[in-house]
Amino acid sequence: MRVSVLVAGCVVLAGAGAAYVLRPQPAPGPAAPVVVASPAEVTAPAPADRAAPPPEVTKAREQAARAVQAKNYAEARAVLETALALFPGQSVLAQDLVVVLQREAVDALRDGRLAAASRAVARARELSPDEPAVNKVAARVFRAQAGETDDDDNKRALLDQALALDADNGALWQDKAQVCERLNDLPCAVSALESLQKTEHGEHLRGLSDKIARLKQQLSVEGAFRGVESDHFVARFEGYGTEQIAWRALNRLERAYFSINDKLGRKPDQLVTVVIYTGSQYQTALNAPDWSNGLYDGKIRVREGDVLAASDAFDDVLAHEYTHALIAQTVRGHLPGWLHEGLAVVHEPHHVTRDTVLSRAAQSDQLLSLAALGPPLSQIADPTTARLAYEMSESLVRALKEKQGSFGLTKLLDAVNERQDFDAAFREVFYTGPETFYDRWRDAL
Ligand SMILES: [Zn+2]
Repeated sequence: MRVSVLVAGCVVLAGAGAAYVLRPQPAPGPAAPVVVASPAEVTAPAPADRAAPPPEVTKAREQAARAVQAKNYAEARAVLETALALFPGQSVLAQDLVVVLQREAVDALRDGRLAAASRAVARARELSPDEPAVNKVAARVFRAQAGETDDDDNKRALLDQALALDADNGALWQDKAQVCERLNDLPCAVSALESLQKTEHGEHLRGLSDKIARLKQQLSVEGAFRGVESDHFVARFEGYGTEQIAWRALNRLERAYFSINDKLGRKPDQLVTVVIYTGSQYQTALNAPDWSNGLYDGKIRVREGDVLAASDAFDDVLAHEYTHALIAQTVRGHLPGWLHEGLAVVHEPHHVTRDTVLSRAAQSDQLLSLAALGPPLSQIADPTTARLAYEMSESLVRALKEKQGSFGLTKLLDAVNERQDFDAAFREVFYTGPETFYDRWRDAL
């Protein structure tokens, strides 16, 4: 008898004596049973394997195949486990079970049932520890577990377990690089990105070489940096002379944390890192425009000069960059540059609105268009244009605030999160498109 049942990409073959094996991939070539045996079984095949299997075994396998067809993997597993307990020498049962467990794990992963996926894959690895296909599924389970935890040390440990099973998986290296960077372990981040570069996934990633070069450049400056931590922030710096400034930065950031979170109705779910540079370190480590003294690129980076550290300007820079960090961590959709910057400026505690460049530009009809304010303003190289862009952004956000207060801005950020479309979110909250709002703002200047 020859039974060939196609089970969602999983072929059930029947060879002589009705012995058939479930395989994860379609079987190539002849319909002889393909045995995926553990090494122990290869060296010492059980006598039962050589003879025709008992009818109970065949029956159990047929029942399991039907359950798999109906995508009822739990039933298929239970049937095969029971049969295997009764006929432990029947390696075909173990092979079928491994395939079923793989499918059960993938199915559970798809539905977000991580505990079930983890149980299935652990049992599959117990039965077939060296099967690459099983290891790949196990790696996916570890990666999903890493995605569920907020603790970066835990995340890194889970990703390492996944990589031990599937080292060619570029997505895993990418995740690991991100975690290492967040943990301020730059050597680890660089090495993960270099491993990523060697994978098929990494070959197609644009900007990867630049990213590695940038991290190496930062590492050359920050190699000897150490960290101090407050409730919600980590400060990285070099030398004992800077430690006092680091503590002051943490103190001011904690203040910004509560006041800005409250105004914008959100809070970051991870520790935010602030890197404090002295002397020429800021310029050496970063490709920041000359006119900047702080930036956010996943971490807050500030330039400390003696004067800056002693003045309110330091607090302003920290609150400004924290606003960027808060928005970046809590808003998934794209925000135009003017909104990002305007929000950051209006949350500086000591900021004084000047509008000098803005009023001159308005008088001489030299205002920038809303489209010109769309990309990140840090891309503007010319200091005067940058100043105008900042003043316009601040003025635009103040005009939005006048309409509905901070609550309107919170609603806008929530709507962007929900809709992932800035123009639609803007219209939903302010009952007009951004362009019309801009035109009215300009006419009212
Ligand atoms: Zn900014």
